[in-house]
Amino acid sequence: MGGGAGGLRRRSDETAPETWPARASIWLGTKERWRRAPPGTVLIACTVALLFLSLLFLDGQENASLVWQTAGAKLTAMSKVMHHPPDSMKPRDDASSTGGATAADELLGGLLVPGFDRSPCRSRYETSHYFKHSPFAPSSYLLRKLRAYEARHKRCGPGTPLYAKSVEHLRSGGRVEVDAAMECNYLVWLPYNGLGNRMMSLVSTFLYALLTDRVVLVHSPADFTDLFCEPFPDATWVLPPDFPIANLSKLGQNPDQSYRNLLDTKKIIVNEPYVFLNLGHERDIDKMFYCRDDQLVLAKVKWLLVYSDVYFVPSLYSMGEFHGELHRLFPAVESVSHLLARYLLHPTNSVWGLVTRYYDSYLADAKQRIGVQIRMFNFARIPVDDMYHQILACSRQEHILPEIDGDEDDLGTTKNGTTNSDATDAVATAGGPTTAILIASLYADYYERLRSRYYEHAAKGGATTVSVFQPSHEEVQVEGRRGHNQKALAEIYLLSFSEVLLTSGTSTFGYMSSSLAGLRPVMLYPARGHKVPKPPCVRLVTMEPCLHRPASMECQANVVDKEFLARHVMVCEDEGLGIKLFG
Ligand code: GDP
Repeated sequence: MGGGAGGLRRRSDETAPETWPARASIWLGTKERWRRAPPGTVLIACTVALLFLSLLFLDGQENASLVWQTAGAKLTAMSKVMHHPPDSMKPRDDASSTGGATAADELLGGLLVPGFDRSPCRSRYETSHYFKHSPFAPSSYLLRKLRAYEARHKRCGPGTPLYAKSVEHLRSGGRVEVDAAMECNYLVWLPYNGLGNRMMSLVSTFLYALLTDRVVLVHSPADFTDLFCEPFPDATWVLPPDFPIANLSKLGQNPDQSYRNLLDTKKIIVNEPYVFLNLGHERDIDKMFYCRDDQLVLAKVKWLLVYSDVYFVPSLYSMGEFHGELHRLFPAVESVSHLLARYLLHPTNSVWGLVTRYYDSYLADAKQRIGVQIRMFNFARIPVDDMYHQILACSRQEHILPEIDGDEDDLGTTKNGTTNSDATDAVATAGGPTTAILIASLYADYYERLRSRYYEHAAKGGATTVSVFQPSHEEVQVEGRRGHNQKALAEIYLLSFSEVLLTSGTSTFGYMSSSLAGLRPVMLYPARGHKVPKPPCVRLVTMEPCLHRPASMECQANVVDKEFLARHVMVCEDEGLGIKLFG
């Protein structure tokens, strides 16, 4: 089938939309045409996308089909896993409501350290009581690395003498000697775009800090405060307001101090007090970042400013120098965002109040919670009724929502009477509510329709009690408003407490819910070209987020483990130019 990344072929049995039209970016409604990568131009690719291309165009068709066969076999195997999960993929405990987790679980398998004061951040030790799936235990190497990171952050973070010296070095334009402080190097993370984007880029930045022994500090403009707790013991990750670089929110995408501009103007980077890195969806600005030689240069710069709204982890996997370390940290490649998000991103008490009040009032008593996240992007906007029918068609295809008596009017002929809720139907006959459907959407339309559906029709067999809930409908996406972001975070977390997830393609909001939940969701295909996609959705084979637009970069010095990439990197189902980790 045509389409895909610069001519990459999809496997013929892949459940992708029939046509994969000219792509449009998802970023906050801005539409941007994606260029097709020119075939056969790259010798050694720095990024996985380029690796795929090189396999296709340099190594020939044989290698390309090898990649696809391997990935395809994995896909088939993984979808089998979804239908018959082995013990390791089953929920670690069956705490279907609060109070089911043990004290040991509170530390999420050792991800978290004990000893934090509970009251300033209740979520830290309470989320374990709500999560339904914990498919991956952290490796002992990851735990050691996290403990070492925490010690480093405590030693180098704001308020310490080493931080003061490092800031002095920056303020002096790199002239003040910092030998004693050389052990402390920093990544200053700059937020932009929506909350899901921010969470993904923060997780990626933190992983890069683990790989390069740096300390992450978070620039927190007003709309990014009171969202996340301090993640590290006896230390702060909030960049102090007297940080010498002014107007961090207004540096733009490509300031003078960006790596590319520095390379253009100075050719060689020595003694720069700081370097700005654009690792966002404007992927090609500082794409040299992904090259080994440039990493050696950047390793000497004490302060790196990271401006990104994407999950750039898959590109880190394509950098040979990090390979061994990544493998030790995450023996299960699919576990990266799941483990790091649970380690790093704890909602503050204000947000946790929203989450727990809602959960305890409406969701706790259900036997099963189905999270449904509906996102309508401008590039894929279709009428509400069409989207509603896509949801129902998907539900029918993947057995997500309880069916109703006489639902042919909604859905056409019933193909298969079973649903995800069948297991709970049996329980329902013993009494008690069974299924709670949690809708997350900017709009109330889907909630209204689904609520009417289960009000006007009995669930099939009459045994299932179905309740439909939606915490908020903000109508429009707003930038810069803390309350809006807090609701978004609360809903990302509420979705992550589901047993089953149906999310919207290309939405980072949905990606983060799945990663936190530890669930491979069923994902609605975006309606590209404003056409209702057929098939309507796909059951994913990994909970890892998609990197929509990997930087395309030639790096002569990079050593790429092609076999590893073939086994663990795939083209995203929802974005033909994107890549993601699996397996
Ligand atoms: P993406 O645009 O879907 O990739 O997700 P982002 O989270 O990066 O940006 C979308 C933003 O729109 C969110 O951060 C929210 O501010 C808002 N938003 C989108 N969908 C919802 C929703 O279902 N609930 C709430 N409360 N806000 C939403």
